[in-house]
Amino acid sequence: MSGRGAFAESAEHRALREAVAAFARGRGDTGPDPRSPKELWAEAGRLGYLGVNLPEEYGGGGCGITELSLVMEELGAAGNPLLMLVVSPAICGTVISRFGTPEQKRRLLPGLADGSSRMAFGITEPDAGSNSHRLTTTARRDGADWLLTGRKVFVSGVDEADATLVVGRTADARTGRLKPCLFVVPRDTPGFAHREIPMELSAPERQFELVLDDVRLPADALVGEEDAGLQQLFAGLNPERIMIAAFAAGLGRYALDKAVDYARTRQVWSSPIGAHQAVAHPLARIHVELELARLMTRKAAELYDAGDDMAAGEAANMAKYAAAEACAHAVDQAIHTLGGNGLTTEYGLASLLTLSRVARIAPVSREMILNFVSHYTLGLPKSY
Ligand SMILES: Cc1cc2nc3c(=O)[nH]c(=O)nc-3n(C[C@H](O)[C@H](O)[C@H](O)COP(=O)(O)OP(=O)(O)OC[C@H]3O[C@@H](n4cnc5c(N)ncnc54)[C@H](O)[C@@H]3O)c2cc1C
Repeated sequence: MSGRGAFAESAEHRALREAVAAFARGRGDTGPDPRSPKELWAEAGRLGYLGVNLPEEYGGGGCGITELSLVMEELGAAGNPLLMLVVSPAICGTVISRFGTPEQKRRLLPGLADGSSRMAFGITEPDAGSNSHRLTTTARRDGADWLLTGRKVFVSGVDEADATLVVGRTADARTGRLKPCLFVVPRDTPGFAHREIPMELSAPERQFELVLDDVRLPADALVGEEDAGLQQLFAGLNPERIMIAAFAAGLGRYALDKAVDYARTRQVWSSPIGAHQAVAHPLARIHVELELARLMTRKAAELYDAGDDMAAGEAANMAKYAAAEACAHAVDQAIHTLGGNGLTTEYGLASLLTLSRVARIAPVSREMILNFVSHYTLGLPKSY
């Protein structure tokens, strides 16, 4: 034992962080006019960062969500978070590599691994929202095909994705009850329409409403087993929470760095503003919050990579909660630290306010995580 124990990051992880940070720095920050991430995405793909979690035999890095979350956090900390990393390699790539048929893996994974193709992920529905038991997008068999009908909202990146992994339901032949199933829907499939939802977000990725009107899909559009849909869904949702936690921690670090730089040098009395504890302490507190959130994110990622889906789920929820709160506090406090400059276009912090709230809402809201911890962890009764 080196004496540094399990809390020290391995040399490989430190090297990955440093390489991604160096790559992402200076490539145009998130800001009021975020540049297209296409070039960044393509280059990150060529360098192997996007598919770091996917199996080597399909062109991935053969590592796990731990490594992909490091990539995400460092891109965010450099001001260049790539939201589609959450969806394409983390959710879709994970579900397909764990549950897809050999043919689906051969067809879909190499593109996801090198970034040359992308997938979106659609679960949220207008009348279901946080309550996924109310999903109504339904698949029914028509000969060998499937017909998929329903509506989705807030699905990120449908315009740039070659296909969307849509969560639908099929009727159980024995009980007639609807059970979740995952379908790959290519963007140009007849009956599959997408319409942009105007959002007040300073991010290059856009959100869409989907309308699926008897979308005809071949039998092999269904990912994995019809009867294992729920398990497959959860396999994708834990990486999603871990990746959103990493996104929030990265964005929080980015805002904190800007605030600390400013507080060190801005002087209006006899010492820099950072010498006033009213300025310094909130920044120190945010650093503590971010460190705690990062630690929990790492725990969740390592549990997930070790194959412990249940324990990873609990940790991933808590990590997402902690990172979302730390991120919202970081951006808020960073703006305040810069005074008037906190609201200028030049410093680009005010435009991050809405982006810094995303992790509180998606993929599962702060309240639904507190509900989960109340019921699952603490054993308290449910109100709903
Ligand atoms: C930027 C962005 C990107 C997104 N990308 C995707 C995507 O790619 N794919 C996708 O499928 N979805 C996506 N979403 C959707 C996101 O996952 C949902 O917005 C989220 O799950 C919340 O659902 P809702 O908006 O319907 O809120 P609702 O479920 O209507 O909730 C509204 C409020 O009520 C509270 N609430 C609801 N039920 C309870 C309860 N039982 N107890 C206490 N409080 C409760 C919630 O916490 C929340 O504050 C995205 C959303 C955003 C903002």
